[in-house]
Amino acid sequence: MTYQANKYGYYGQYGGAFIPEMLHNNIETLQNKYLSIIESEAFKKEFKSLLKHYVGRPTPLYLAKRLSERYNTTIFLKREDLCHTGAHKVNNTIGQILLAKALGKTRIIAETGAGQHGVATATVCALMGIDCVVYMGAVDIERQAPNVKRMKMLGAEVRPANSGSKTLKDATNEAMRDWIANPNDTHYIIGSVVGPHPFPDMVARFQSVISEEMKWQLKEQTGKEDPDYVIACVGGGSNAAGAFYHYLDNDIVQLIAVEASGLGVDSGESAATTILGKPGVLHGSKTLFMQTEDGQVIEPYSISAGLDYPGIGPVHANLFETGRAKFLHATDEEALTAVLELSRLEGIIPALETAHALAVLKNMDFKQEEVVVVNISGRGDKDLETYIKHGLDKK
Ligand SMILES: *Cc1c(COP(=O)(O)O)cnc(C)c1O
Repeated sequence: MTYQANKYGYYGQYGGAFIPEMLHNNIETLQNKYLSIIESEAFKKEFKSLLKHYVGRPTPLYLAKRLSERYNTTIFLKREDLCHTGAHKVNNTIGQILLAKALGKTRIIAETGAGQHGVATATVCALMGIDCVVYMGAVDIERQAPNVKRMKMLGAEVRPANSGSKTLKDATNEAMRDWIANPNDTHYIIGSVVGPHPFPDMVARFQSVISEEMKWQLKEQTGKEDPDYVIACVGGGSNAAGAFYHYLDNDIVQLIAVEASGLGVDSGESAATTILGKPGVLHGSKTLFMQTEDGQVIEPYSISAGLDYPGIGPVHANLFETGRAKFLHATDEEALTAVLELSRLEGIIPALETAHALAVLKNMDFKQEEVVVVNISGRGDKDLETYIKHGLDKK
C-alpha cells in the first residue's frame, strides 16, 4: 500500500490524464520521458546546484521557542518563505524549466491567479533566457498589479484572459488553448500538484526537497527524523505535497492539511474542497472539487489568493478519502489572527496562505514532548496591504 502515484498517475481512484485529443502527443511525451529525465545524474546535479546557489536551499528548520511555549509543545518552522521570490513555488519552476530544456522546448507558458506562480515562472525563464507568456484573468490583472509589474520587469508577456469570470480557471483554459496551438516548441509549467498525469507527480517530486531536508534537519536538532505532526496549507496542494512526501508511507507521522474556509464553511464564500467538493474531472485529472448538481465549477472564495482554488490535487483527494491525512480548515478571520501571532511571537510575517496552517495550532491537542513541523510556505510581503487594511498594524 502506498500513497504515491502509480505509473498511470493514479492515487487510489484519483488522478489520471483526462485531456483533449489535441494535447495527447504532448502529454504522452511527458509521461514517457519525465522520470528518466529528472532521475538522470546530469539533471539532479543541475537541479541541486540551482536550489543551493540560486534559491538559497537548504531553507532553515527553525525551533520557534515562543510559539512552542504558547501551545505547550515543540514547534519547528520549515522556512520556505526564505526561498528566492519568497515562497516554495520556485522549487517547482526550477525543476520544470530544466525539464523543458531537456525536452528541447524554447518557449514557456503558464497560468497564474494571484501572480505568485507567474512570478516564479518569469524568474526561471529570465534565468535561462527562454521566452515566457503568462496567462492571467483580466480581473486578477487589476487586483494583483504589483505581481504583473514584477513579471514584466522579468521580461515575461502577461496575456489577459477575458472569458468567463476572467480569473484563474479562464487563464488555465487560455494556456491550454495556447499549448494545443504550439505543441512542438512550448512547455506548459503548471504551478501546483494539479492537472493531467504526470504533472501532479512531477510537481510533488520537485517539491519533495522540503521533506527531504526536514528529515536530516530534525535528526540534527532532535535526534530523530520523524516528527509527530507535519502541518501545511492546501490550495492545489504543492507545498503540502512536498512537506508530506517522504512521510506519506510512514504512518507514525500525522499529516495535517489545512484548507481555507473563507467566511465559513456554510457561508457560500469558501474554498474548503474536502467538505464541499465531490469527485469529478477538473483541469485534466479526477479529483475532488466544488461543483453544482450538473458538474459546473463553483467559484471558490478565500482572502488568500493562493488558496482560492475550487479543487485539490489528486494526491490530497486520496489522502482525504483514505484518512491518511486529516483535513482541517481555517477562516479568513482565523488566518489574520495567526498572521499577527507569528509576527509578534517570532518576528516572522507569514503569507496569508501559510497563516491558515498556523491557525489550526489552537485546535490541536499536542503533548509537551511532541514534535510539530509547520511548513511556512511563503512570506507576507505580498499581503502587507491586506494586513494594513484589516488594521493588524494597529493591534
Ligand atoms: C501558491 C501558494 C500556496 C498554495 O499553493 P499550493 O500548491 O497549495 O502550495 C500556499 N502558500 C503560498 C505562499 C503560495 O504562494
